[in-house]
Amino acid sequence: MSAVPTTDASGAAGQLPRIRSALDRLVSFKQGTSPRSPEGHAFPLSANESPYEPIPAVVRAIQEAALGVNRYPDNTCADLISEISSRFAVPEDSIAVGCGSVGVSQMLLEAVAEPGGEVLYAWRSFEAYPILTRLSGATPVEVPLKDGAHDLDAMAAAITDRTRLIFVCNPNNPTGTVISRSDLETFLDRVPADLLVVIDEAYIEYVRDDDVPDGLTLRPGRPNVVVLRTFSKAYGLAGLRVGFVVGHPTVIEALRKAFLPFSVNAVAQAAAIAALRSEDALMARVETTVKERERLHHTLTAQGRPVTSSNANFLWLQLGDQALAFAGHCAAAGVSIRPFAGEGVRVSIGSPTENDAFLAASATFPTPPGHPGPGEGTLHDTRR
Ligand code: PMP
Repeated sequence: MSAVPTTDASGAAGQLPRIRSALDRLVSFKQGTSPRSPEGHAFPLSANESPYEPIPAVVRAIQEAALGVNRYPDNTCADLISEISSRFAVPEDSIAVGCGSVGVSQMLLEAVAEPGGEVLYAWRSFEAYPILTRLSGATPVEVPLKDGAHDLDAMAAAITDRTRLIFVCNPNNPTGTVISRSDLETFLDRVPADLLVVIDEAYIEYVRDDDVPDGLTLRPGRPNVVVLRTFSKAYGLAGLRVGFVVGHPTVIEALRKAFLPFSVNAVAQAAAIAALRSEDALMARVETTVKERERLHHTLTAQGRPVTSSNANFLWLQLGDQALAFAGHCAAAGVSIRPFAGEGVRVSIGSPTENDAFLAASATFPTPPGHPGPGEGTLHDTRR
């Protein structure tokens, strides 16, 4: 910690409050921008959200709950936990809820990570992992992806006696790649039994590859494995912030201690319950998104774009040094996507209209010399 001498707005010399040095290397979470086309249209495809408005049953639950917001929410989220318990056939004492699965991830880190400890994950993966790890005071250990997918051998080799938590993102954000059941089981068998493994399944509902396991089926006999889920994607509640984790009751008890009181509000709890009760309608939307994903994949391949096979609600284009220019070109057409400089871009699957706007923008991106042009590209198809 360091006290920084400074001058305040009035010009008086003084000192600023001490800030934890762990924050020095932290970069704030970046949210996508909202560009508009010359005609004023905005096509938001940068945050992997559901493109659909809430269904009427969810809207009704939200309206009803809104009338009670003068009261604090149920801090134990009892009704929501009971609903999750029956839906996923897991005991209530094996479930903890949080403010988005980001909030739950923070609780997990609060429970096991500390300065001197290490948190292991593949990279590139979900951008919140390094932020939350540094916030916890622990040290991130990032294991590079191999062909756009988790390198589980390298991850197992990177485990030390300082490792406190491992994030495994399946499907991976931003590449959309997946890990098969046998590969994941082999990896889990190599992880010491006292080391927490978090299988982040934010996009599980979009998976259509039969080899990919439902993480919940990997838990029996593995008390160190927890499965992280969210209501932000397939359930369409990104704006309300609810996520949950399924794990061993001892882990769950620790997590509940790390819960920021009242951080899952009553409107969010009611909406999540209503969403679970309306699952058929919501999963029909997921099916449409999956079909759109395959349509985009096909068209982008025909355009010669280096697109990776995805099992999530987004696609990854490995554009290398063209990533920023490509995203800028899309932004000029009102399409916001997520660029990662020097690596690629992630494009969320939106409504058919939004997707068409993106495809049109992609079709007119001038391919520089030396890069495959439309029709001459090779399909970069990485399934694992
Ligand atoms: N995990 C992954 C892999 C994600 O991509 C996201 C959202 N982008 C989250 C977790 C967080 O979701 P939320 O906090 O909205 O539940």
